[in-house]
Amino acid sequence: MTQNSLGESAVQQEVQGKNNGVGANITQTQPLWLLAEVTYRCPLQCAFCYNPTDYDKHTQNELSTEQWIQALRDARKMGAIQLGISGGEPLLRDDIEDIVVEAKKLGYYSNLITSGVGLTEKRIQAFKEGGLDHIQLSMHDITEEINNFITNTKTFQLKKKVAAMIKSHGYPMVLNVVIHRYNIGHMKEILEMAEALDADYVELANTQYYGWSLVNRAQLMPQKEQIEEAERITNEFRERVGNKMKVFFVVPDYFDNRPKKCMNGWGEVFMIVTADGDVLPCHSARVLPNIEFPNVREHGLEYAWKESPAFNKYRGDDWMKEPCRSCSEKENDLGGCRCQAFLLSGDAESADPVCTKSPNRHLIDQAIEDSKNPQLTEKPIIFRTNANSKKYAEGDKERIEDFHATP
Ligand code: SF4
Ligand code: SF4
Repeated sequence: MTQNSLGESAVQQEVQGKNNGVGANITQTQPLWLLAEVTYRCPLQCAFCYNPTDYDKHTQNELSTEQWIQALRDARKMGAIQLGISGGEPLLRDDIEDIVVEAKKLGYYSNLITSGVGLTEKRIQAFKEGGLDHIQLSMHDITEEINNFITNTKTFQLKKKVAAMIKSHGYPMVLNVVIHRYNIGHMKEILEMAEALDADYVELANTQYYGWSLVNRAQLMPQKEQIEEAERITNEFRERVGNKMKVFFVVPDYFDNRPKKCMNGWGEVFMIVTADGDVLPCHSARVLPNIEFPNVREHGLEYAWKESPAFNKYRGDDWMKEPCRSCSEKENDLGGCRCQAFLLSGDAESADPVCTKSPNRHLIDQAIEDSKNPQLTEKPIIFRTNANSKKYAEGDKERIEDFHATP
């Protein structure tokens, strides 16, 4: 799963708004978005992958086609209308066609989030006939060198072919480009590439530091001036192309002084079902300690959403400590991201360290400083490989200490 390729994708919201506008009357007590992370297997090994670093322990027990179809039905009954089919690489499963057909039958607006590996003429034809609404393709750079480096695979040529195939089947061309130190200097060329591919939507998703990108944070994080320049180039490009292409620039929170309202609030609108059936309010929630997440094999989605202690734990603001508890801005961000708070400070109930009111803001400032320190930035990148994930899953202490920067 690429960065920001979640249900909350700005591109997806825009496309959904244009296509059916369904969901406008659904209250926030219902899950509006279902993200199906159908597998953690992936042929790519991206340095910034959002998947959990210990994904290896979740690869053995994937849900069956029937279990996915049941999950789709249950979520739809509860009001879900947006379906993201993600991974890993979802196309490694051969039942995505069946899932798409069921999604159409149930009335979902469906989005396949893919690296493009495994997308053939035959499969895209089947998706079209089955009623898949939207395909989001990840691109990495305009150069073969950086694409192949950051994904640790030779996929550059294939991605270009897949982009053309998506367009030729009448899908809107939706590109997701994760932005980091290695490609931020190519912003103009990346946008020109999107134009040449006749993209309808481009999401420039500055890396958010979870999962593998947190492990590689010092190596991936660009400097503030580079981000400002990238935004300037994006704005210039927007002015030039006008309505021909929608370009979203997702601002990185480390350089902000307030956190984002993560997932639009814990257990408010997003529900994620993982490859092995855990039900999560946020894709990285399993990093949090002392929470047992419900699993569709044991409980229905309705129990997970309404009754499970996990989904109720950080709903609303009762759980907050100071400074969030008495903060006049708490409605805006609900204290930010619980996973980011825990991963950086070791305390899941603290204010997101991005906030300048947080006593842990120094951790963010230190990370920004670290991204200028050649001793850290030149350390080898740890790619998302099964072997590396196995080490994390086994609790490789040295690796965990690499990024779990408790104060
Ligand atoms: S390795 Fe890359 S393509 Fe595969 S799931 Fe992670 S980000 Fe997506
Ligand atoms: S103190 Fe907490 S609630 Fe207030 S702005 Fe910061 S993170 Fe948000």
